[in-house]
Order: sequence, then structure tokens, then C-alpha cells
Amino acid sequence: MGTVSDYFGCLVFDDRVMKASLSAEVYQSLRKTIDQGAKLDLSVANVVAAAMKDWAVAHGATHYTHWFQPLTGITAEKHDSFISPAPDGGVIMDFSGKELIKGEPDASSFPSGGLRATFEARGYTAWDPTSYAFIKGQTLCVPTAFCSYGGEALDKKTPLLRSMEALNRQAMRILKLFGNDDVKCVRTSVGPEQEYFLITRELYEKRKDLVYTGRTLFGAKAPKGQEMDDHYFGVIKPRVAAYMADLNEELWKLGILAKTEHNEVAPAQHELAPIYTTTNVATDHNQLTMEIMQKVAAKHGLVCLLHEKPFAGVNGSGKHNNWSIATDTGVNLLSPGETPYENAQFLLFLCAVIKAVDDYQDLLRLSVATAGNDHRLGANEAPPAVVSIFLGDELSAILSAIEEDRPYEGTRKTTMKLGVDVLPRFARDTTDRNRTSPFAFTGNKFEFRMLGSSNSIACANMMLNAAVAESLRIYADRLENARDFETTLHEMIKKTIKDHKRILFNGNGYDDAWIREAVEVRGLSNYPTTPDCMPHLLDEKNVKMLTSHKVFSEAELHSRCEIMLENYCKTVIIEANTMVDMARKQILPAVEGYCSELAGTIAAKRAAAADISCGYESGLLRKLSVLTDQIAICTDELEAGVMEVSACTDTIRESEKIRDEILGKMASLRAVADEAETQTAEKYWPFPTYGALLYSVR
Ligand code: ADP
Ligand code: MG
Repeated sequence: MGTVSDYFGCLVFDDRVMKASLSAEVYQSLRKTIDQGAKLDLSVANVVAAAMKDWAVAHGATHYTHWFQPLTGITAEKHDSFISPAPDGGVIMDFSGKELIKGEPDASSFPSGGLRATFEARGYTAWDPTSYAFIKGQTLCVPTAFCSYGGEALDKKTPLLRSMEALNRQAMRILKLFGNDDVKCVRTSVGPEQEYFLITRELYEKRKDLVYTGRTLFGAKAPKGQEMDDHYFGVIKPRVAAYMADLNEELWKLGILAKTEHNEVAPAQHELAPIYTTTNVATDHNQLTMEIMQKVAAKHGLVCLLHEKPFAGVNGSGKHNNWSIATDTGVNLLSPGETPYENAQFLLFLCAVIKAVDDYQDLLRLSVATAGNDHRLGANEAPPAVVSIFLGDELSAILSAIEEDRPYEGTRKTTMKLGVDVLPRFARDTTDRNRTSPFAFTGNKFEFRMLGSSNSIACANMMLNAAVAESLRIYADRLENARDFETTLHEMIKKTIKDHKRILFNGNGYDDAWIREAVEVRGLSNYPTTPDCMPHLLDEKNVKMLTSHKVFSEAELHSRCEIMLENYCKTVIIEANTMVDMARKQILPAVEGYCSELAGTIAAKRAAAADISCGYESGLLRKLSVLTDQIAICTDELEAGVMEVSACTDTIRESEKIRDEILGKMASLRAVADEAETQTAEKYWPFPTYGALLYSVR
């Protein structure tokens, strides 16, 4: 490989390739489709498809696929070869505009949450020209949206694109009012920071829980965890460094701007951050990144764990969704401006986000809800399950001053005299950092930190975009009819601060006192688990907002709620079954093996001398016998619980039973099994310990 700039994006049909391989006319027309969503002529599509195919074939591709993101959370692809029979008995490589624009995979094995019952089994995929096609292996991948024949979204990209459009529509109304006539469209950008664990493949394969569920279901704490804080930003071990170098190369070839990498808090934990880009492209890239992370790990004899909580007792993995809104002219609308007018505009967009996050806390919470992420949120590491916004001291002080009609006396800067004199001007403040806040303003963007490491970022962003679009709609409705623009603007900003300041919190989000205050004094919602929050997707206010902005239809919302809860239930049940299997077939036999050695020792000692003390052996034998009884009982109870839950026919009820009964039974079984681990000779333990796993990569 040459230098990075030589191979960056070499597997992407990007602007450079388009320009080089298409006529000026076709290129312009395609650009219009990409930038403004203009409809693409079939004749143009044919030319684009042919150019794409020639380029792909020249890069070794033999197949193409419509690459999409069904509700399984991972990506899907069905490969078709370019091969087409030629009259002379040979083949030609063929790819038509029609094949580029639309595909028809069988939708029936993807989750549809009941949409299939009402609509046709078949679905179709539709090209998303805003995300470049790329080559993976020998396949040209065309990013697409996935819908049923009734037009109902069966994927994550469709509602995401709709939410971006909704935000664009409303933001444009606001920008017009501020006189930004040169702006043609507004887009949201995201830079997702991805956390992950690396362990050796050899040890991974010895643990059924990791293989079946992606996380350890048993395991006593290692003598050393993350207490020394010596891993965070620490020196990267050679094997990890080699992995990261290889990973970067693969990502760069795909045009993914992997930028920073470092060790995270827990041993064996790392992070990768890309340079931010348009939300739907960032979403595609993040899905690809997760896939490539795992592929590259396999090449290095490693396994990349993307589960939110692979190990108890050390930090889990999240994904920080850095989000901002920008115009096509390059103005970041969440960046404080230089002029009074820009500042007023900034404050309005800021208020739109504050209002959105407060009004739709439940949607943000449920957009990141999975069985895996439930282990993080609410524990002492990730942001809590309560949603709140961190603004930092200076911005908070400014908002208070506005709310109370006082002049703002900056702590470090002097007050400025302004054109719109009620709105203070202030300097950008990026110094405050609060790692415990679920939703933090970081100078020119918001960082939504509740996402789990394996989550698609599509869900969080569609809710965020839609909720902010709704705030902006309300503002635009009022401002467009205002007799006095500036007074109305000022009153609206003031009212938003007054009505929504309960969501603003600069303190420690991990503190129990905060959770109490949030819930009891401020009336914020606290949904610790997926079954707690997911049904709120169908709350009237949420359905009304999401359907009015055409992000979802009502039928789609019902189907999504069903799928997410089903997914929760299946995930936990697989974990429970894995625990039963491991307890019966591995843990109990192992402990029994050690017990029988102890019994043998006692017998041998006693045979040697009748009066010999066997205090240690018999004490331990007694202890382990009690533990084996308890493990056996807990295993039976867990198994019985699973049987009972499977009889449930209603998904909401089933998820609640799992939350209330199965999780507790799993915890009980784990507690006694982990206790037995600490008492059992190492050579008997049937799978690698936490110590071995967490320190396996050197
Ligand atoms: P920090 O260290 O303050 O968290 P970084 O500059 O390292 O910030 O950025 C973290 C992530 O945020 C990166 O993925 C980066 O590309 C992304 N980011 C930076 N600016 C923006 C923006 N305006 N919109 C969206 N994401 C952004
Ligand atoms: Mg960050």
C-alpha cells in the first residue's frame, strides 16, 4: 500500500470517480439528485449503473448487492452477479439503471413486526444516492432503503432519511425568517465515537456465553480491574496497535474517516472515532466500521466485542453520538455566532434542542434501549437512564439572565452591547466537560452519550432530528405570523427556558441524589429498562409528532415497538438458556470434580492416620457442596422461569415478566456460580476466567 492519500476511498464510487467516469451532463444530473434529491431519469440511471459496474469490475468485483439495514440491527445483503448470457455462449457483465435503483429481496425472513400480515411478504430496496456505493470483497454494495410493497419502512435508513428531511423543512423556515436566503438545505452531521473490547479468539471460543450472547454471563472479578486507571489513554500494546493499523487501512479504503484511536477505561477496551459527516452517511459508515472491526480482528486472531456489557465489574461500551446541524453553505447552526443576529439564531436553535430533548425524553431513551444497553444505563459508568442536558456554566448563566430579564455579566468576559439588545453576546466556551451527562453541549455540537456500542446510530438520530424538527415547527409557526419579529423571538426563547429548564443539569449524573431530584422534584422520566420505556413509543404525543412530520406511519410505529420488545425478550431468553447450559454441563461438573478430589484427599489422609486433621479440606468441601446445591436449585428455577415466560403470548407482558423474574434469577445463579469459582482450584474451572480474558492481548 502506498501513502494514505493514494488509497483513501479507493473502494468507493465517490465524487472523484463519478466526475472521471461520467459525462459532464450525467454528472450534473446525478449531483442534483445527490444534493437536492431531484428525481433521477432512467436513462441517466442506466449510464450511472454502467459506469459503476465498469469501475467495480475493474476493481475485481463480480457481484453487486443492495446493501440495507433491516430491523435486525445489522446490515443485510443479497449478492447477484453481474453475469448475463451473451448470444455467442459467453457472458457479459451487465448492470442496468433499473437494477441500480430498485431491488426486490424477499422480505419475509426479516422482522416486520406485523407489517407483513397486512402487506405483501415481498419488499423492495431503493437506492440511496446520498451514500456512495462501495466495494466489499468482490461485491459492489449499493446503499439502499428497504420497504414493504405498501411503502412501509422495514429498515432504519428510511425513517432516518425522513427525519433529516423533516428537520430540513422546518429549519429552512426559520433560516428564511433570519434572512439566510442563500441557504438551499440544512443537514445534520454526526461523528460517532465507537468503543469496543479486544480479546484473543482462542479464549473467546472456550466461552459459550461469549459465542452465543456476546457477553460473559459468569465470571468472578479479576484481582485487577480498572481501579488503577492505568489503561485509559495508556500505551497501546503492539498486537492492538497492529490491529488498529490494519483496521484504519481497511476503513480508509472505504472512505471512512477513522481519525482517533485510544485505549479506554477498562482493560482490553479501546475507542475509535471518525471525522463527522452527514448523518445517513455516518450511519452507513458506522455499520461498516462495526463489521470491519470484527473482520479485521479475525485476521489477527482476535475477537472484537461490541456488546454493551461484555464484562461485569468493568466499564461497558457505548457510542457517543456527536451531533450538529449545518447549512449547505457551511454554517454550523449550533455554533455561537459573531453578530447579534447570528447569536439570536444560535440561541433559537439551542432552545429548539432543549425543548425537543425535554418534550421527547422518552423517545431519546427508547431509541437506545436494548437488553444489552440496559446493563450500562443506570449503572455507575454510563450516563443514567434519566435524560438531561449539560450546557456548561457560561451558557447556563446566559440562559438564566435571559429568563430573568437581567443583563448578563459574563464570568470572564465583559458584557457586550448588542443590536438586539435583549440577547447577550458571548464567547464560545468549550472548556467545561462533564462526562456524566447523557446529552452534553460541547461548544458547537451536542454529544448524546446514551447509545450502546452495538446500537445502530440511526434510531437515536431519527428521534433527535424529528423532535428538533417539531420544536422548530412550533417556533416557525409563531414567528411567521409575528407582528414584531424581535419581541416574539425574545419571548419565545424566554418561554422555552422557563418551561424546559428542568432538563438542564450541570452536576454529576451518576449521583443517586440527582436521580431522586430528577424524578421527584423535576418530574423527569426514569426508565431503567427496555420494557419500561419501549411502550412509550406508542404514547399519543409521540405518535402525533412522528406521524405529523412523516417520519413514521402509525403502523410502522406499532411494528417497531413490537420488534424491539421481541428482540429484548429473545436476547434475554438466549442468555438464560446459555446460563442453564453452562451451569449444568460445565460449572457443576467442574465443582463436583474438585469436590471429589477433596473427598479423596480427606479419605487418603484419614487412611494414613486416623487422627489427622482435615479441617481445611472438609470445610471447603462443605462450602462447595452447599454452593453446588444452590447452583443446581438456581439453575432449575431459571429454567422453570424461562418455560413459564415462553407461554406468554403478549410481547409487552412477556418483556415485563422477563424484567421482573428472569433477570433476578439470572443474577442469583451468577452470584453462586461466581462464588464457587473463587473457591475452586483453577485447573478445574471449565472456561477462561476474567483475568485471562481481560489481559489476554499483549
Ligand atoms: P471531543 O474530543 O471534544 O469530544 P473531538 O473533536 O474529538 O471532540 O470530536 C469527537 C467527535 O465529534 C469526532 O467524531 C468529531 O468528528 C465529531 N464532531 C466534531 N465536530 C462536529 C460537528 N460539528 N458535528 C458533528 N460531529 C462533530
Ligand atoms: Mg467525545
